[in-house]
Amino acid sequence: VQVTLWGVRGSIPTPDADKLRYGGNTACVSVGIDDDIDVILDAGTGIRRLGERLVGSTKPVHILITHLHLDHIMGMLFFRPFFDPARPITVWGPAGAFRPLRQRLARYLSQPLSPIDIRELPARVIFREVGAEPFMIGGATVRAERIIHRGPTLGYRIEQDGRCLCYLPDHEPGLGVDLERTPAEWVSGLALAHGAHMLIHDAQYTDREYAENTTGWGHSRLGDALIFARRAESEQVVLFHHDPAHDDESLDCLSDEAAARWAQSGGEGARIGLGVEGRTIEV
Ligand SMILES: [Zn+2]
Ligand SMILES: [Zn+2]
Repeated sequence: VQVTLWGVRGSIPTPDADKLRYGGNTACVSVGIDDDIDVILDAGTGIRRLGERLVGSTKPVHILITHLHLDHIMGMLFFRPFFDPARPITVWGPAGAFRPLRQRLARYLSQPLSPIDIRELPARVIFREVGAEPFMIGGATVRAERIIHRGPTLGYRIEQDGRCLCYLPDHEPGLGVDLERTPAEWVSGLALAHGAHMLIHDAQYTDREYAENTTGWGHSRLGDALIFARRAESEQVVLFHHDPAHDDESLDCLSDEAAARWAQSGGEGARIGLGVEGRTIEV
């Protein structure tokens, strides 16, 4: 299964010269589970470039949205397959307390925030709320679970032919608990992630930033991302949702720190690294 990172930045796009090496587009990941289906995780600004690649095909598209924060849906209107009447597109997302998914997305895809309305998208789009039961996309089994973030947020686990990817881009499992000692069944997202060959996980903040200002903002400090990844026993860990204030140089430092702490805590058996926009990785 091939996974391509189209956007790895968190919160807001950063098209700054000193942030282009890791990339400025917000969350979007494509998953090559099947030659006949396009599967996409989140619709941040990274989905624009991916959409250009998909023009001219009539394959069904499945977009799995983790939650409706802008950085995860901002690219929707610029995803070209939405403008192709021949394209069947299914948008999956979390259920909300009051309104259906389509209506909640329409708050962004409507006047005055958008020049066109969600009803006007030419593609054959359906919106589906993800329930507790696993479901199939092509030959892959998809499971989702509510995880700790701000607002209703899902993590996804996709399994095909014995290979497994878990995607938890916005996640604060260490909020209010000692992540090292909390029993596994009480750790947000851990059952979903356990044993995944590849884990894509939030590591937005340094430990210091987290301690000083950002506890409770819905994201992980590096230390918690590392503990979570070790307890999940993944073969490969991609740290994700880079803070908009972190330039390439500071991300290089974070990457070195992650590798050193990972080795120290006995994680040598697994690869760990920061997500880089444009990179394709084999699960
Ligand atoms: Zn986000
Ligand atoms: Zn978020």
